[in-house]
Amino acid sequence: MGNGKQIRSIGVIGGGSAGYLAALTLRAHLPDTSISLLESSSIPVIGVGEATTSEFPPFLYKVLGFDIEDFFAKVRPTYKLGIRFNWGGRDEDHYFNYAFDTGSAAESQEYDGNIKRATLLSVLMSEHRHPVVRSGDQPPFSLEPLYPYGYHIDNKRFLGYLHEQARARDITHIDATVDEVVQSADGTMEAVVDTEGVRHEFDFFIDCTGFRSLLLEKTMGSPFLSYASTLFTDSALFATAPHDGEIKPYTRAQTMDNGWAWTIPMRDEDHLGYVYSSSYVTDEEADAEFRRVYPGLGPTRQVRFRSGRHDEFIKGNVAAIGNSYGFVEPLESTGLFVICRQSLLLAMALAESDGPLTTKTTDAVNGAISDTWDFIRWFLSVHYRYNTRRDTPFWRACRESTDISGVERWVDRFREKGALTYSTTDLSVGGTINFGAYGHDVLLFGQQVPHKATGARETREEYERRAAGYEELARDAMPQAEALRFLEEHPEILREPMSGANSWMAKFMDSVIDIC
Ligand code: FAD
Repeated sequence: MGNGKQIRSIGVIGGGSAGYLAALTLRAHLPDTSISLLESSSIPVIGVGEATTSEFPPFLYKVLGFDIEDFFAKVRPTYKLGIRFNWGGRDEDHYFNYAFDTGSAAESQEYDGNIKRATLLSVLMSEHRHPVVRSGDQPPFSLEPLYPYGYHIDNKRFLGYLHEQARARDITHIDATVDEVVQSADGTMEAVVDTEGVRHEFDFFIDCTGFRSLLLEKTMGSPFLSYASTLFTDSALFATAPHDGEIKPYTRAQTMDNGWAWTIPMRDEDHLGYVYSSSYVTDEEADAEFRRVYPGLGPTRQVRFRSGRHDEFIKGNVAAIGNSYGFVEPLESTGLFVICRQSLLLAMALAESDGPLTTKTTDAVNGAISDTWDFIRWFLSVHYRYNTRRDTPFWRACRESTDISGVERWVDRFREKGALTYSTTDLSVGGTINFGAYGHDVLLFGQQVPHKATGARETREEYERRAAGYEELARDAMPQAEALRFLEEHPEILREPMSGANSWMAKFMDSVIDIC
């Protein structure tokens, strides 16, 4: 239950991606509520978080109402069609694509012995192509309305853009450092007091203070539930490196001796990071390995983290969004995905409540968000348990003791019958297309987890016909650098996915309504 008062003012404490996305989402749903964002210019944001899922672009345009041409011009995102995993199987050349479209993983495995031709986006990823096609003398055409994509975004540019949007949308900005928190006798949050002694009072508080979790954990006492039995990493180094002008259309996840490394292609350079476990390697050794594998790296920065979530997302008149509530390492780029989901569920709940949130609403929203993080935890467990690429102490420990209890029965079913896509609809996270039964199939086939049958349904002829069609399109598709130049010259094409009954972006709002 809330504090019994009408919610007329909301204070968002923290100005990282979580704070700004939360404030803007609340503004979109609560036009008459006073919304303030308080952040400290002396406490820096985490400054990473650059690969996104395919929920992210529709969230920007359909929920927040950003203008797609404006965003594209100012933030300069690159497109992400999925993740290429250099993962699973001893052969260093083995990889598989976890693309954002779903398709024929079982058939691809059955007839090709790998899943590279399972979907169009996977074929485009293998060929380093973007879904804008130039065929003969015809004018180029875009397949973007039909095939989901995410973005790679430079964190600094993105935060700058969010800041500009918040200013334009009547969100009060306060630069202050919270020094003290004031609660009433019944535990309700009343105010935060800054280092200058100024008291900032609000009816409802959003904790976006990052890993500090100043309000939810330190003030309201919501316990932290660790995922350490599943996720052994706790540190990351990150840096940039020049690329040769080729902008790959995917995030790359590369197995390393003590964890894994990401490569996120931006327009002018690559952004890279090494996620590792400090129990298995010192920071200096990790840095040396990182540089050995990626010779052109610039100076590295480091961050420590803990994987897990808090017991409650909303407690009393406090909700925590972003790292202050929960975090898992970024192997599936889930940080911004969950921030968007949290912000939207909270905004919808507050908009519908016409007053303080009831216990029933709070419990429902808390359950939806804890289920989301838990689901992602179990999905990630599959990545660690079955990656046989390296024989180092870290990876041996992952194979021997990663806790996969939340997903074990699905792995058993896969081993017996093959493709989960064809045998269950139970495996999904709140109506989204990512991380569901198909995603599990990709990870299990891709890592070559033994199975008695693939469960393929299409005949070889049907599969070959479709895969040949993908390959033909890929031959004519542009490399991403060329496609980005083309889209800059024809920005009106960017709008095509926004409309049309068959566009995946237009359908996004249906899935949002499903999850709420
Ligand atoms: P922060 O960025 O830490 O912001 C905290 C804010 O709180 C700051 O503005 C600070 O000034 C303010 N603050 C703190 N204390 C006070 C105080 N006392 N008074 C006033 N203000 C205060 N996510 C993805 O989606 N994709 C990725 O590829 C990805 N990669 C990641 C890689 C790594 C290594 C890590 C650690 C995370 C990654 N994430 C990724 C997650 C993503 O970075 C975060 O989820 C996201 O940045 C949200 O951070 P935040 O806003 O919660 O916290």
